[in-house]
Amino acid sequence: MNLVFKNFFPQDVTALFVDRRVDFILPVDAVGLSAQQKEFLLQELKLMPEKVFTMRQVHGNKILNIASSDLPQQGSIPDADGMVTNVKGAVLTMRTADCLPVFLCDPKKRCIGLVHAGWKGSRERIVVKGIESLTKNFGSHAGDILVAFGPSIRKCCYEVSEDFQKIFPAEVSRVNDRLCLNLAEANKTQLLGTGVKEENIFDSKECTVCNLKYFSYRRDDERSGRHLSLMVL
Ligand SMILES: [Zn+2]
Repeated sequence: MNLVFKNFFPQDVTALFVDRRVDFILPVDAVGLSAQQKEFLLQELKLMPEKVFTMRQVHGNKILNIASSDLPQQGSIPDADGMVTNVKGAVLTMRTADCLPVFLCDPKKRCIGLVHAGWKGSRERIVVKGIESLTKNFGSHAGDILVAFGPSIRKCCYEVSEDFQKIFPAEVSRVNDRLCLNLAEANKTQLLGTGVKEENIFDSKECTVCNLKYFSYRRDDERSGRHLSLMVL
């Protein structure tokens, strides 16, 4: 089953974290989705591949605003780590295999966004950039924005080196003999700082490493597949 965030986002907003049935990896030389990936979107999710926007994720903090004129073009996948839109029917997509997938939705201004928050993106405060993108482009107020965290590597499995204590002083702590990073907590703290309300943040709390139903880069290295997160207004 795909993980959905039912009853959290408005009824007419689709927010999904696709399970392991299809690997949504984007090879370095790919110019678009593979035939199998397109087939899955069309058959299982009834989504037209030509309305699917994709990006090449580079662990930066750039957020794209997808306008109705930005038709996805084969051969030109933009580098970015987040997308926002207020275009009905535009399918935003993102890939992860341990990084935190963040889903954003402002029910009042009718806009959505996806943010790829690994440790590098979180260091660059990409989730704050995502909120700013909604406020700047669509007039959203942070206090109205709903935020959901999908499955990702969690504190139970995210052992880090001592250097991480400088980057995330409040979110790295000792678990038994190991130093562990709480990536979700780091993003939650950044969100609260923008004015997002605590009750508007939903965390799936799922760990991709200890739960074998998920792809995990840390667990499986190069063999790991990628999960697709998608959102449609
Ligand atoms: Zn775990």
